[in-house]
Amino acid sequence: MVEISKLYQPPYNAVSCSELLMHNGLTCKQIFRRNWYRCSVGCLKYFLPLAVSPLVLRPRSLNRQTLLNILRYYLETSLWGATSSALTIYFICLYRHLFGRYHLLTVTFLPAYTAFQLIWFYPIRTIRLFSTATTQAALETWLRKQNHFITKSLPIQTIVFMLSSAVVLHFKRRKEFNGFWFIQPNTDESQQKGVENLEDLQKSGKCLHEGTSCTKYILKEMSSYLMYGVPLDLLSTVTKGKMPRRLRDLKMIRFEMTAFFLSYAGIYRLSSCLLTRYTVYGTREHLLAAGLGGLSYFFLNKLAFSVLAFVIAVQAYWQSYCSQPVEEPENKIATILKSVPFAKLLVPYNLAYVAHIFVFHNDAMSKLAKGFFRGATDNLFAQIHQYILDMLARREKMPLS
Ligand SMILES: [Zn+2]
Ligand SMILES: [Zn+2]
Repeated sequence: MVEISKLYQPPYNAVSCSELLMHNGLTCKQIFRRNWYRCSVGCLKYFLPLAVSPLVLRPRSLNRQTLLNILRYYLETSLWGATSSALTIYFICLYRHLFGRYHLLTVTFLPAYTAFQLIWFYPIRTIRLFSTATTQAALETWLRKQNHFITKSLPIQTIVFMLSSAVVLHFKRRKEFNGFWFIQPNTDESQQKGVENLEDLQKSGKCLHEGTSCTKYILKEMSSYLMYGVPLDLLSTVTKGKMPRRLRDLKMIRFEMTAFFLSYAGIYRLSSCLLTRYTVYGTREHLLAAGLGGLSYFFLNKLAFSVLAFVIAVQAYWQSYCSQPVEEPENKIATILKSVPFAKLLVPYNLAYVAHIFVFHNDAMSKLAKGFFRGATDNLFAQIHQYILDMLARREKMPLS
């Protein structure tokens, strides 16, 4: 097995970019155009769920305007993503010409960092998607590379998920966070029913949800999440290439997502009802119910989700903090912090880090991040990586003259 770190050591660090990036016979600009086309095809395929999932999950709320909106979001995300990905490869050429050789950071880190400065021009929704996804990928990859004990500890990952669940559902319930989360919070009862003397009702220990029976309410809420879990499990079975053909093949489908969604909604609603009956249901009780719902992580048991939950919890806290009315005069540090465009600063760094790890520590990569590189570059990045490994191995046997 050849060490890829040889790439930035002599004599290999002087290999031409046309050899390294497989563009013999074509100039760097010509190959950029070809790569851009390939990356566009890759991104259009990779981001297809952005266009399809609203059609499947919210078919009733669709009209001409929302359809156009979805289409625009999908095209913008795919094409900006493709342009940045193709530019990353182009900048590898550029830095090779500029510095005359490859250095540790100019092979992938700086090219990706420079290319994704385009984030400053991305539409806001795409920035949000990229900042969440890339921070998750970078953090998970970092934990794996460190071989951190969290990567192997189900109890710690579950606790992280439970705490994140409490934080996110808390801010969602207060309508201070509008980003993605797996389930929706119980609506704030006073707003929902226009109840004036909420305190009296809370003390009376009666639930404020629709209908009188808690069991019916909980089952109804759980069943509404079947339409998220079941399609996701089927999709994951199909994408793994294990399409069930006979009835008994159905056993192959592992209903992990379904179990996750059902138990999450179930535990959260059940503990809410119980806490309403036996305590005065307030913020603390809601936090407890939302945290307990996070026990459902047991069914997922995938580091990616625990890290994603943590990233979203931090975002929820930050969005809520920024939306608070300010006391006059506002703390100077707080004013400065609020004006920092964290998402735009983080995305290029995250992607540069993950691209660097992709080339130099491929084994430590998270599956999700690998999937992104495979998808967004139509497998180009992985092919180049493999080609470099093969080239180094070949040259190892036949030293440069
Ligand atoms: Zn080149
Ligand atoms: Zn109830």
